[in-house]
Amino acid sequence: MGREFAVLQYSCGPTVYDHAHLGHACSYVRFDILRRLLTKVFGCSVVMVMGITDVDDKIIRRASEMDISPAALARLYEEDFKQDMAALKVLPPTVSLRVTETIPQIVSFIQGIMARGHAYATERGNVYFDLRSRGDTYGKLVGVAPCVAAEAVDTDKRYAGDFALWKAAKPGEVSWASPWGRGRPGWHIECSTIASAVFGSQLDVHSGGIDLAFPHHENEIAQCEAFHQCAQWGNYFLHAGHLHVKGQEQKMSKSLKNYITIKDFLRSFSPDVFRLFCLRSSYRSAVDYSDSTMLEAGHVLRRLASFVEDARAYMRGQLAGGPVSEAELWDRLSSTQRTVRTALADDFDTPRAVDAILDLVHLGNRQLRVATEGPGGPRSPAVLGAVVAYVEQFFETVGLSLASRQCVPGDGSAAALHSVVDELVRFRLKVRQFALDTGTATGDARREQLRERQPLLDACDALRQDLAARGISIKDRSSAASTWELLDPRTMLQKPEG
Ligand SMILES: [Zn+2]
Repeated sequence: MGREFAVLQYSCGPTVYDHAHLGHACSYVRFDILRRLLTKVFGCSVVMVMGITDVDDKIIRRASEMDISPAALARLYEEDFKQDMAALKVLPPTVSLRVTETIPQIVSFIQGIMARGHAYATERGNVYFDLRSRGDTYGKLVGVAPCVAAEAVDTDKRYAGDFALWKAAKPGEVSWASPWGRGRPGWHIECSTIASAVFGSQLDVHSGGIDLAFPHHENEIAQCEAFHQCAQWGNYFLHAGHLHVKGQEQKMSKSLKNYITIKDFLRSFSPDVFRLFCLRSSYRSAVDYSDSTMLEAGHVLRRLASFVEDARAYMRGQLAGGPVSEAELWDRLSSTQRTVRTALADDFDTPRAVDAILDLVHLGNRQLRVATEGPGGPRSPAVLGAVVAYVEQFFETVGLSLASRQCVPGDGSAAALHSVVDELVRFRLKVRQFALDTGTATGDARREQLRERQPLLDACDALRQDLAARGISIKDRSSAASTWELLDPRTMLQKPEG
């Protein structure tokens, strides 16, 4: 086939009628991590297609409440969704398609299913998928398809389990012309059509939240296999576990009103904290959200960033001390690399990979402490450099940045600001050195001198704390050296505001 290294992936997109919440964020960030791993660790080119649901009951209802057109509402929240995803550092899909711009393809897809004997139109202008025509193949994704509810009295379906491919227009609702009269597409048909429009009858990966497995994905399979007349349309269905609010049984959702919007969340926490939180559980499993789980993720992130800063200071000779135990660190580095690769190849076991890296960092920190406390002597920056490079590379691969002295790419003002902070830290170091240097004074004279100069030390501490709130982390390595690194200010926060 010659396309072993391409992965054709379809992702169900948002229904754009309101702000996205953390439950959505969790699903999209987890799949973003998987996509980055497939690309950078396993060398695949991932072609990611996303369908945007820009017409449905909720959009129509909300638009009429707000007295704007469904199209205007949908554009507003589609833009909003894209901004949220960018703020979470989720890579955009290779291409996204809107339902309202795919109507002709949807109509002909429905005609194809009808022509193959798997759907029927009713007098009222609805088209339904004929579930019984699928025989026992329906339910192949979820094992046993849940029992269909008793038939509603006002429906014109032939069988209760049949689902709508085309819905006849209700008065005053947005609609399109079709061979069955004016109407709009059902929900499931849009994903089948968009995926098939781009990829034809082949699909390697289909992703979405676990709540989409049934009936949505099951119905997508029925439609596609009927249309393409194939035995298996999608090869892998990946489902992300739900985000639960801690102490509650239910998932975070709009209808339960127990949600936190992505925008609100990002006022208190950095996208990196959220990403680390996502990495620390398998993408399949349900996870508990609470302030304390986020604070814990923030703590781990600061520990990682702090290790990177310390190891860099050691390499530059700004940390006093002797050699580290080189052989032990080299060994641990290579065994960690093996463990991480094995874990990632095992259904993207990110928690195991992160644990292995945290163990490596723990050992690195211990070695650094020994090196710092020990007498001066030969130094071994290479092995610590290798550990730092590996740790940074791993987190960069999954879309997470640790402490960075590099400027944020952009205009020249970032570079200028960098120089200003450099000068400021140097000035502060001079003030500190003066305050601490008592020269030849001893006894009472020395104590008096230190007391007089204490306000200078206090001012240095205050400056350090004030800059920390802005993401600039200054560390005093000795009386002769201070270093600084840039972190996301929200990562520096010990407690969320408010
Ligand atoms: Zn879908």
